[in-house]
Amino acid sequence: MSDAYHELLDAAIQQLEELKSQGVRFVPVSTETLAALNQSPRPVTKTTVTPAIQATPKPAPVPLKPVEIKPAATMDFSLGLSGAAPAALAPALSPEAKASAFAELRQRALACVKCPHLASSRKNVVFGVGSTDAQLMFVGEAPGMDEDQQGEPFVGKAGQLLTKIIQTMGLERGDVYIANILKCRPDTPGQSAGNRKPTSEEMSTCIPYLHEQIDLIRPKVLVALGATAVEGLLGKTVGITKLRGNWHTYRGIPLMPTYHPAYLLRNQALAEKRRVWEDMLQIMEKLAMPISEKQRGFFLKASA
Ligand code: URA
Repeated sequence: MSDAYHELLDAAIQQLEELKSQGVRFVPVSTETLAALNQSPRPVTKTTVTPAIQATPKPAPVPLKPVEIKPAATMDFSLGLSGAAPAALAPALSPEAKASAFAELRQRALACVKCPHLASSRKNVVFGVGSTDAQLMFVGEAPGMDEDQQGEPFVGKAGQLLTKIIQTMGLERGDVYIANILKCRPDTPGQSAGNRKPTSEEMSTCIPYLHEQIDLIRPKVLVALGATAVEGLLGKTVGITKLRGNWHTYRGIPLMPTYHPAYLLRNQALAEKRRVWEDMLQIMEKLAMPISEKQRGFFLKASA
């Protein structure tokens, strides 16, 4: 192999080491590149090889271990576009490494301009809030106007209802982690208010940040709030009514889909509140949280 080849190889290794020291654990590599890297060095024809080079022992193939490929069988948690999650969670980091990886991830997300239309219309990147050691993580769709203004997820009307749900479970917002599929508010050009569902392209561009957040937090239970969150995390476009109330798995983490709190604001029926509450009871059981008789009975009758 030529000197140029080795120089390139050294530079690539150095770059990867640098990223690794900053806490980056995955780098995007196309399937084609990976396949090419896995091949043994291409045999060099006699006419291009000098005796001196021939005498040099061949370098061992460079193990590019950190890159993980998703087996086809586990494809269903990705969007099926780009931005797919690695198949397994990365190994847990020390508290210091985790804190610095999380800070680095936040900085990257706050500086993100991958969706120029959203970067130019946003007031804030809404990265996420809560404990990075949380056992329970809620994932919503995208920031709305209030969230964009305050830079924090779920602070508007739907967010206040989510906070109430969390408190009814006996927790505070600071005990859990809350994030969205999209970190920027979907723009609504020509409109002064209103929300829109993120596009598939926006979702697949942004979701690697969420994959990394989950990778670092390693919650014991994930809650997907509404159909868009389910689509982002599980790649399922089945209606939320069919999916909610049943356990799914995201990279080995139990995931409970439930209705988005905004739906509960639109539909005040006691039966719908009870459905969401039953999903929360299942989550509390999974996390071995204490559940009082009073908690078990919420929303069963009009006076509850
Ligand atoms: N709806 C969401 O899905 N996320 C928010 O942060 C706020 C409202």
